[in-house]
This record gives sequence, C-alpha cells and structure tokens, in this order.
Amino acid sequence: MTETMRAMRLHAPGQPLVLEEVPRPAPGPGELQLRVLACGVCRTDLHVVDGELPDPRLPLVPGHEIIGEVTALGEGVTGVALGERLGVPWLGWTCGECAPCLRGEENLCERAEFTGYTRGGGYAEYCVADARYAFPVQGDDAQASAPLLCAGLIGYRTWRLAGGEAPRRLGIYGFGAAAHILIQLALARGQRVFAFTRPGDAEAQAFARRLGAEWAGGSDEAPPEALDAALLFAPVGELVPAALSHVRPGGTVVSGGIHMSDIPSFPYRLLWEERSVKSVANLTRRDGEAFLALAPQVPIRTETRAYPLDQANRALDDLREGRLSGAAVLIP
Ligand SMILES: [Zn+2]
Ligand SMILES: [Zn+2]
Repeated sequence: MTETMRAMRLHAPGQPLVLEEVPRPAPGPGELQLRVLACGVCRTDLHVVDGELPDPRLPLVPGHEIIGEVTALGEGVTGVALGERLGVPWLGWTCGECAPCLRGEENLCERAEFTGYTRGGGYAEYCVADARYAFPVQGDDAQASAPLLCAGLIGYRTWRLAGGEAPRRLGIYGFGAAAHILIQLALARGQRVFAFTRPGDAEAQAFARRLGAEWAGGSDEAPPEALDAALLFAPVGELVPAALSHVRPGGTVVSGGIHMSDIPSFPYRLLWEERSVKSVANLTRRDGEAFLALAPQVPIRTETRAYPLDQANRALDDLREGRLSGAAVLIP
C-alpha cells in the first residue's frame, strides 16, 4: 500500500489551494525525502498561485522555504544521514552544463528547476529534494529558521548586489519578511537603515523602527538624507524611479523580487550620474552556504506567525493584504 500525506495543492492559477490526501513523493536517484517540519510562505508563492509566473507544474505543491528531517535517501546519495535536519530553498536543480552554469552563475541556469514551482514544494507533510541543493541548518526551531531559506537568502543576495556592507545609508522598500531579516545583518555591519512601507502603514513603520531603522516612512516620502543604495522588496514598479530619486550619484537600486508591476517611464536625470538599477534572480548554493553560516553569527532572529497546513490560503491572503509583520510559516 502506498503511504499518503496531506498536501495543499494548486490545480489552476487564480484558484485557492486544495487540501488533499496524496501519495508521499518517493526520492529518485540523488534525491532525499524529507518530513516537512516547517515551510515559510513567500511572496513568490503568491505570484505562482495568482498566475503571475508562467507554467507552474500542475497540480503543484507550492512552498520553497522548507525545513525538514531526512526520512529516506534515493539511490546514490552519500554524506546525508536519516534524521538530519536540512533546509530546501527555491533553487531546486541546475544542469551544470549550460553557459551560465559553466560561468559559475547557476542562479541563471537555462534549465533550472525551482522548488514549489517546477518541482514539488513544502506545503505538505513530506517533500523530495535533490540532495545537492539542500543545506544543513543550525538550531532546533524549524519555524524560526524557515524564512531564512528565501526571505533570508534572496535578501542576502540583494544586499550583496547592492554593495554588501559598503553602503552606509541603506534604504529598504517593503518592510516584510526579507527586510526584517536583512536589517539585522545591516545593523550588525554598522549600516544606517531607512525603511519605506506602503503609505500610511503605521504598523509596518513601527515594526521597522523597533528593529532599528533610524527612519521609517511611506514609499511616497523622501528620506532625511540621500541613500547610498536601496533594496526593493515590494513588487511595485513605481518604486524604481522613487528609489532612484533618493540615491546619491553612483548609488545602486536592487530589486529582490521575481515579479514586479511595470516600471513607469521616468526622466533620464534620475538614472544619470552613474546610478544603476539591477535585479536579483534566484540564488546560488554559495549564497546559501554563506548566508546560513552568517545568520547564527549576527545572530538573526526571525519573527514569524505559524499557521496549520490547512490554513495555507489564509496565510497567503494575509501576506497579499499586508496583514503580517515578519513571516508566515506553515506547520504541517
Ligand atoms: Zn545550467
Ligand atoms: Zn521565495
């Protein structure tokens, strides 16, 4: 008899996830089966569920901030023990052969597969992952660690592409899961943080100040000083010219999201004086190893709200409506 599990599955974009009893996924060669201890809810999951990212594998178990415990090893897996606690991120598999892979840019792999999008994810009691793309995670608190796997990792890559610790005055647009992690790293490196939220979102601004932002205001406001760099974590194209208008000459604006509404046209003078705009795509395993080693040193403490697995749709709605401080995490 096949063993089963509970999973929240997407059958068509734009529809709510459905709680179903389905067969437990079995690990193929090179893969692990994990019992999911916690799975974070990321804005990218919203983009998948809402149909803003094309061609998800359907029916789909979303979720790519997975903390799990190894329950079975596929053929050929070595160096991993049953019962070991691992984290499974968005980057699920790369080919190792295409031009970006050969350049060391596996985040841009032409045939990459992504957890909870083109591979099954963690909104379930069990999942499988390619053993080479799962990371050891420190600490016993799976709920607290889950947001590190994407909000943390992608946030870290965004921060790194904006110059890492070099910018002294760092703006952060969108103060959600990624920002609440990144601000802790930035402050530990002596950076001054300026937080921008939805206009009028006093709660998010208070959250940012409590975590150490020296200024917090609406994204329609100007910071008290010019910024050296700005990170964008809100999927709002208008923020690109807004952020550019507040960075100094030579400053950088980096967008961390996978999807954004259209960027309105803007005058060249906002970009001139060697300002730059960049995006982040995915992560490399090196980012994962570097960030997960850094996190306990800072130390980064996440603020999470737990939802039972069958409440995944409510968690997604709360994220969509901006009703969360910190990160939502599903506990199967
Ligand atoms: Zn490749
Ligand atoms: Zn994510």
